[in-house]
Formats: sequence, C-alpha cells, structure tokens
Amino acid sequence: MFVLLSVALCFLGYLFCLKLIYNRFWRLWPSLRNNILCASSRVEGVKFLPTRDPPELSCKTYENEARVLLVTAHPDDECMFFAPAVIKLGESNAAVYLLCLSSGNYYNQGAQRKDELLGSCAALGIPAHRVTLIDNKELQDDPNTEWSVGLTASLILKHITTHSIHLVLTFDEGGVSGHANHIAIYKALSHLAFVGRLPEDCQVFFLHTISILRKYLSIFELPISWFLPSSFCCILAPNEYKKAKEAMLRHRSQLLWFRRLYILFSRYMFVNTFRAVPVEKKDLKFY
Ligand SMILES: [Zn+2]
Repeated sequence: MFVLLSVALCFLGYLFCLKLIYNRFWRLWPSLRNNILCASSRVEGVKFLPTRDPPELSCKTYENEARVLLVTAHPDDECMFFAPAVIKLGESNAAVYLLCLSSGNYYNQGAQRKDELLGSCAALGIPAHRVTLIDNKELQDDPNTEWSVGLTASLILKHITTHSIHLVLTFDEGGVSGHANHIAIYKALSHLAFVGRLPEDCQVFFLHTISILRKYLSIFELPISWFLPSSFCCILAPNEYKKAKEAMLRHRSQLLWFRRLYILFSRYMFVNTFRAVPVEKKDLKFY
C-alpha cells in the first residue's frame, strides 16, 4: 500500500512538473519566437539563445513576415519529426516553406506520396504554393545511397535565395532516425554554412537527434528536453497536437501499425529542440 501511494505521489508530482513547464513555455513563447526570427542575430555568427531565460529583444525584427524553410528528405518527414516547429511558427505568422528532396519512391509509391504530402502540409498550415518536391534521379529515397553534397547544397541554396529565407530547419548529423538521406541534408547545409555561402540574414537550425529511450517517452520526455541546453524549443498544446496527428494520418500509404504507435508515443510529435549552426563569414577564401 505504501509503495503504491509513493508511486502515485511521484506520478502526480511529475504531472505537476509538466504543467509548470507548459505554463513557463507559453509565457516565454513570444520572446523565443522573436529571438529566432530576429534578423541581426547571425551577423557575428550564431549566438546561443537560451531556451528558458531569453534576453529582452534588442535586435530588429523583420519588417515583413519572417520566412522559414523546412528541408526534408521524404514525404512524411515534415510531420513525423518537425510538426511542433512547423505548427508553432505557422501560428506565429511566419511564412513556412517546405523543400522535400525526394518523392519517397523506395516502394514505388512516389506518385501517391506526393498527394499525401500536400494533404499533410495543409493540416500543418503550409499552403500548397509553398511546398516544393524535388524528383531528381540522383536524389532517390534509399537508405543505402549517398546523396551528392554538391547537388543537395545547390538545390537548397537556390531555394533559400529564391524565397529570401531567414531561417532554415533541418536534421542534425544523426538524422533523427539515422537515415542516410536525412544526414545528407545535414552535410549539405553544414557545407553551405562552413564556406559562407548562406545569405547574411539566414540562420540554420538542426533538429536534435535524441536516444531511442527518450524518443518514445511521448510528452513525458518534456522535462529532459526542457532542462537540457538547446537553441530553440517548441512544445505543442493538446489542440495543436491534433493538427500534427491529422498530418500523420494524411500519409495513408505509410499508416502501418507501428506508425500509429509512433503518433502516440513519439516525443517528436509533441516537442522539438534545435541547435543553431555556427556560420562562417563570407569573406573566407579557399585556395
Ligand atoms: Zn525521411
């Protein structure tokens, strides 16, 4: 009886902790959002922006709407991994663009998956005219294929300059799931940042890859994400989670039983944390 009571008290305490973090996040969200959409934050390289105690804004924000580009490898990456950031930034009036670098044709379902992608983006709040899906024979969905860093980087850079993008979100070196195509995008953007090819007012953020244990703790993982350092954190409220779930359900060709479990148990359906990418100045010379 005593053990049961102790467990119940611990659980209630944990729920109370979650509630406190939620409340704190809602209060901080306007400044967190403005900080990462702040035009001058990249001039001297990326500044580390603390998640929990952001400084008062002193830098100028964009006169027009901020433009955010999400770069993914396959249809469904946008909702499986990035739904919290896409939904929160979209609700904050940022113009969110999606560049998906393959049609996900590994099982010859590319045509169907293109349509599903548009449905998912609509659920997440990304209009169809801001969605670009690349179908290049050198960038096919295949975990055993190394995508060309040069080709991937040039496609991404063209998209950034065409749409005057201020903020790019993509995978980190772990690719969340370790998929080679995800990691290829990380390499391409790291290359662009390292050689100073990105525009002056464009920042890049990489989505943290977390351990498999943390990955499937659902919302109960939140305190760990909250207290570990990150440059940017997004947390979904229950009503916003419904949008993420709806986006996942639009990918009907992928709705196997384990995908349904993923919707319930993946922490990426509720929380995103990002690392800012240090950017070299453009006057670097290479010989
Ligand atoms: Zn993928």
